[in-house]
Order: sequence, then structure tokens, then C-alpha cells
Amino acid sequence: MSNQDVSSLSSEIESLDLTAVLHQIAEKYGDKAAFSLGFGREGMVIADQIFRHELPIRVFTIDTGRLFQETYELYQRVLSRYRQKIEVYTPNHHDVERIVSEKGPLSFYESVENRQECCGVRKVRPLERALADTEVWITGLRKGQSDFRQQFDQVEWNDRHQLVKVNPLINWTSEAVDAYIDAHRVPYNALHLKGFKSIGCAPCTRAVESGEDERAGRWWWEASHKECGLHVS
Ligand code: SF4
Repeated sequence: MSNQDVSSLSSEIESLDLTAVLHQIAEKYGDKAAFSLGFGREGMVIADQIFRHELPIRVFTIDTGRLFQETYELYQRVLSRYRQKIEVYTPNHHDVERIVSEKGPLSFYESVENRQECCGVRKVRPLERALADTEVWITGLRKGQSDFRQQFDQVEWNDRHQLVKVNPLINWTSEAVDAYIDAHRVPYNALHLKGFKSIGCAPCTRAVESGEDERAGRWWWEASHKECGLHVS
């Protein structure tokens, strides 16, 4: 794969709906395409399509070890409902033991560096392993999630992982996501009913107030960092 594949794939799928986009990717890349499921609303829409149509796209999730109980409950419900495989990637236990032994279990509150170190160990490195043999990475990113995410396109080259990244919901609204979930009775995280818009690790996520940015509840004690590094190229 190279940067040039971006423009050809982009022109192939730009006018297609979500179902057709995923079918096109499945047909062309098979299990060299992978979808990262974080069990948010957007992710559940894409997972529903992949599972409903039994597409050969790999579905994986990263279990940081610090997720909400409600997220694990959703994870289990998704397995029961669709009966399809979700690959799980976990942090290297030596790295986790080192950070917690040296700095304690909540070191991420103490500095941006500590927080990035924890996200690096628990999220970014497992993601690198998950994407190691992947040509197309599918995500649930939407522009409306934050100002930072306005910069993403439907199809883009990801330098860091040397692959094509496809964000099929990039121009969807939050309302469109909700409408899909209602119409198809897609399971979703119970925390969404308690004001949580974007859901990550339990110690680093809070509910958001009306009018706040959708990702305002992530690392709320930091002034401006609302990304863990997964989507920073
Ligand atoms: Fe660690 Fe918080 Fe990042 Fe999760 S979100 S990996 S707990 S710093």
C-alpha cells in the first residue's frame, strides 16, 4: 500500500453509502482490512454492518485494562448478539507493571507526560500490534466529534502505520448515528444514557454537559489534549 492508493480508493467509495463502502473494502482487501472497535456509538454502527453482512473484515478491540464495567457488559452483549469474532489486544504486562510500580495506578493525573506514557502503553502499542499486517484501517471517526477531528477525510494515508485509513462515518451527524442505532436496534453503552458522549478508560472519562464538545469528557483535567495518540499520524 502507498499514498497513491488513497486517491484510487477515495474515488471508488466517495459516493457510496456505508453498506456499499464496507462491501467494497471487504471485496478488495478481505482480512487485510481491519476495524478498530472501541464500543462507542459510531463503532457500533460499523460493527453492526460488518457483522450483519458477515464481511471478512477483521474486527478488533483494545482492552486497556481500565475500561468501564458498562463497556465490558456491552462487549459481552455484542458477542452474544452477533456471535462473531472480536480480536482483543492488551497492553504488554511488563510495561504496565513498570509504570504502576514506579509511578502508581493514577499517575496519568499528574502530568501530560505520564498520561501520554500510559496511553502509549495501554493503547498505542497494542494498536500497533493489531495493525501490523493490515492494509486498510477502518475507524468510527466523525468530524463532529471535536475541532481536532475536522481535519480528517473519509480516506487518508496514515504515515505512522503505513496503511490507508478509512473513516466511513466522517461526515455523519450525531443524530444520524442515533437514528441508525434506533432503527437497527443496535446494542449501545449504558453510559450514553448518563451523559457520556465519548467513552474511553474509566478514570479518564466523565459525562459532558449540554453544549460541551463531544470529547470534552476525555482527560478533562488537561486543557487541550483530547486525543490519546491513536489517531495522531
Ligand atoms: Fe491510561 Fe487514561 Fe490513557 Fe486509559 S485513557 S490508557 S487509563 S491515560
